[in-house]
Amino acid sequence: MTAASVYRGRFAPSPTGPLHFGSLIAAAGSFLDARACGGEWLLRMEDVDLPRCVAGADTQILNTLEAFGLEWNGEVAYQSQRTEKYRTAFDSLIKAGQVFPCSCTRKQLAGGATAIDGGQLYDGRCRGALVPGTSARAWRLRVPDEGVIAFDDLIQGRVEQELGRDVGDFVLLRADGLFAYQLAVVVDDHEQGITHVVRGADLLDSTPRQIYLNSLLGYSPAVYAHLPVAVDANGDKLSKQTLATPVDPTRPLPSLLAALRFLGQPVPDELTDADIGDVWLWTVSQWRITDVPRRRTLPASEFSTYSR
Ligand SMILES: [Zn+2]
Repeated sequence: MTAASVYRGRFAPSPTGPLHFGSLIAAAGSFLDARACGGEWLLRMEDVDLPRCVAGADTQILNTLEAFGLEWNGEVAYQSQRTEKYRTAFDSLIKAGQVFPCSCTRKQLAGGATAIDGGQLYDGRCRGALVPGTSARAWRLRVPDEGVIAFDDLIQGRVEQELGRDVGDFVLLRADGLFAYQLAVVVDDHEQGITHVVRGADLLDSTPRQIYLNSLLGYSPAVYAHLPVAVDANGDKLSKQTLATPVDPTRPLPSLLAALRFLGQPVPDELTDADIGDVWLWTVSQWRITDVPRRRTLPASEFSTYSR
């Protein structure tokens, strides 16, 4: 493979608990696309939000991935060990005048407009200068008042977002001194040479922010593919927050086949008692990202299997 045609993908779980079915779908989808393209598949622990992380969850996730036959390339990266890289990127944004200090508390911002992700839309009150007598709590990225960020997602199609209207100036350095997820992801993907970001569509709203940050930092853009998220008939997401149960590493095949079906991949009967390695070989050879549905409802019986 030539340098120009390198494919490098990744799976980036947060070590906040064991791997559940929703994360397995993201792991399988990103793995399949990388392997089917002859690419590498890297692993990154997204533990930048330290207060949310659970001790030992990273090892548990790695063991589960191994039990599912998901073999990654290279060393596992940990965001918690990469603060200096985030600091360097952050400093360059300050130097370019893209970042400003903000003294607003959550309480002060309450009651304003809602951002696309359900959070508070920042009203820009510290944009010009800090309110006299206050000091910086967090640092925000200044987004353009007008203008659309658009990209073509391999699964979701054309996605457009107006940062000023839908998101507002967003936090890069938090009041607790930690760098924000949005900055960490962009810096990591660049530093790790990621060419293809294949992940759950629950992150779709974040992608325009990351594309904008990526361009400000002068990084080359990645290709995006957002996989359908496992929801029930009511649209409730299977997640750690909704008490999704961990997938069983001692009995990986049933959950793996369910994940492949969820991703719109054919699962012939012969696979139901196959060896995990053979399942991957066969599925990699059949994988077509265009077969992945944009949205999918998990059958009620499966949703209840994977939640409690
Ligand atoms: Zn402010």
